[in-house]
Amino acid sequence: MHILSTPIEYLKGVGPIRAELLKKELRIFTYEDLLMHYPFRYIDKSNIHLISNVSEDISHIQFKGKIVRLEERGLKRSKRLIAYFRDSSGEIELVWFKSIKWIKSSINLDKEYLVFGKPSSFGGKINLVHPDLDPVEDSIKDFRGLHGVYSTTEKLINRGLNSRAISKLVKNLIPLLSNAIDESLSNAILEKYKIPRKKESLINIHLSRDLKELERAQKRLKFDELFFLQLHLIKTKIIRNNKFIGYSLSTLGENFNTYYSKHLKFELTNAQKRVLKEIRLDVKNNKQMNRLLQGDVGSGKTIVALLSMLMAVDNGFQACIMAPTEILAQQHFATISEELKEMEINVDILTGSKKTKARRELVENLENGNINLLVGTHALLEDYVKFQNLGFVVIDEQHRFGVAQRAKLWKKNKFPPHILVMTATPIPRTLSMTLYGDLDISVIDELPPGRKLVQTLWRSDSSRLNITRFMKEQISLGRQIYIVFPLIDESAKLDYKNLIEGYDSISRDFPLPDFQVSVVHGQMKSDDKEYEMNRFIAGTTDIMVATTVIEVGVNVPNASVMIIESAERFGLSQLHQLRGRVGRGASQSYCVLMSGNKVSNEGKTRLKTMVDTTDGFKIAEVDLKLRGPGDMMGTKQSGILDFKIADIVKDGKILDYARKEAFNLLEDDVDLLKSENINIARFYRPYARERMGWSRIS
Ligand code: ADP
Ligand code: MG
Repeated sequence: MHILSTPIEYLKGVGPIRAELLKKELRIFTYEDLLMHYPFRYIDKSNIHLISNVSEDISHIQFKGKIVRLEERGLKRSKRLIAYFRDSSGEIELVWFKSIKWIKSSINLDKEYLVFGKPSSFGGKINLVHPDLDPVEDSIKDFRGLHGVYSTTEKLINRGLNSRAISKLVKNLIPLLSNAIDESLSNAILEKYKIPRKKESLINIHLSRDLKELERAQKRLKFDELFFLQLHLIKTKIIRNNKFIGYSLSTLGENFNTYYSKHLKFELTNAQKRVLKEIRLDVKNNKQMNRLLQGDVGSGKTIVALLSMLMAVDNGFQACIMAPTEILAQQHFATISEELKEMEINVDILTGSKKTKARRELVENLENGNINLLVGTHALLEDYVKFQNLGFVVIDEQHRFGVAQRAKLWKKNKFPPHILVMTATPIPRTLSMTLYGDLDISVIDELPPGRKLVQTLWRSDSSRLNITRFMKEQISLGRQIYIVFPLIDESAKLDYKNLIEGYDSISRDFPLPDFQVSVVHGQMKSDDKEYEMNRFIAGTTDIMVATTVIEVGVNVPNASVMIIESAERFGLSQLHQLRGRVGRGASQSYCVLMSGNKVSNEGKTRLKTMVDTTDGFKIAEVDLKLRGPGDMMGTKQSGILDFKIADIVKDGKILDYARKEAFNLLEDDVDLLKSENINIARFYRPYARERMGWSRIS
């Protein structure tokens, strides 16, 4: 057995009971797990001070000297052990309230000690309570430098395993590992980036002589962590490309060309053209495409999807597009049917609300190939939905669908169809490289021309009258208005109360028959919701009062004002999505963020960011910094973003290098067979086994 796999109970200072706890509480099973339990901060023991220089203002201080006398004082609760500790400059009291017996018996009055603790004042004198006390002779324990502080738990602390005790365990462990830590990177990479070797780094991450040494160790371990993840993601992609034969969509045929030259009402933006080319390159060979298309709201993803689906139809395949809600599916269906109305392409729609008979008919037409293009909700995933020859799948607003749901679409034909996943939630580059590193990524980073930027204002209650006046002006110009209330928790009664009260007061300010006000929220029946939604889409109502149900995708170009109530309670990406509902037509649009007077600093940052920029990628960067990657992506549970040391927000540069090196390596030696890559190969194999099943789509 490799020494690193030694069960943790064999380590000096652990034993069976502590071992059980270490396993349960920190998932430390082996020597290696303990070695990989990195400190979350450090205390500086690099300097030795004179006792005469002690002051209460210093947070931690270290002395070297001898204990000259021990004394027990007090009774019961106030019982304490006092050690009089002396160096050449003076004397200080060390005090213990706990484990008195044990400490007393372990102290040797002849020995020289290093003592480290936090100075505190008691009865006019400065002392150190429960300091670290280590004999100078013990070379690792008296290590002069940065000592790690470790995360631990209540239960472990009760068993004496606080951070300091864990640090001692690590110090017991390190001397055992002198020859046991294998290098995981190639010499070429080590030399190119001048980073320390693995063994040195793993020791220095716990104990380093100074900050510089620590930083070098951190950099090395971050690189390591990011490098192997990137290697894995890129390798997964390569394997998938080799394993699955894709349907070749080799010709741009009649439908594509006719639509493009005769029916497309506008010139594509350069970004749209570029993305179409990327898709075309993927699908014309026998490669199965897995592509993520990122594009801000209103950037024109739908037309790219439609043109891609026409490529499939031109090559004798069916295509489908799946949307997360019924309303969105209806809208796609309306748009696509309208666009294709002069062409001989059969478009149909399948949602949960389709009646049994119509559904049966649809399935039949799908199976015999009469339907070329199917729009739908997740109803498309049902087993009874069988295609004659599905070749291309578009998934709109992918963050609403899980990996398992996407996988179902793979099985709708003999080979997996090409998959285009579209999202309007821009993801910072570092994050998409990590989360979607095994997908190809396309970005539409340009809005169609002539679009006016949405003007964004941040206002409080004192501006209500002005806002109402402004709304009336806009309505008199023929515009429509959204008013959105937060609904953070579906069951939050107070939120509903606010929404209903808000609706009542708006109905009072905007009375019938001059004004029409609709309301849509999650507690309404879906028929009623749809009825109100459609009234707004048709322009019958002037104002739509709603919760965030309108967040995704809805397209009402005539709506030019978005008012967001209690805006400080929304997350940044939600605010951005909501604002994206306006600014879709020709007229100047506005977004008004209403907030209370007391807004947290973080809330202020969010609202200010919204006022300052409309760039979804910039907003996503701020969001990532505020919330951290797990919260932002809702992937906290999945583990894919659980780095031990790397930080996706701060380590973007290291990530770039790591990904580049992983690419170069696989380009040259895809199976890691070359002798110079033996370290990497040896380390990668078990790593890959552990990560199996994490890939995004398959
Ligand atoms: P999203 O990316 O948010 O799904 P859509 O596909 O709904 O955006 O497009 C938003 C609007 O912009 C639609 O009305 C669409 O017809 C229009 N549009 C898309 N591309 C262009 C373009 N190149 N020029 C002008 N208008 C465009
Ligand atoms: Mg869309």
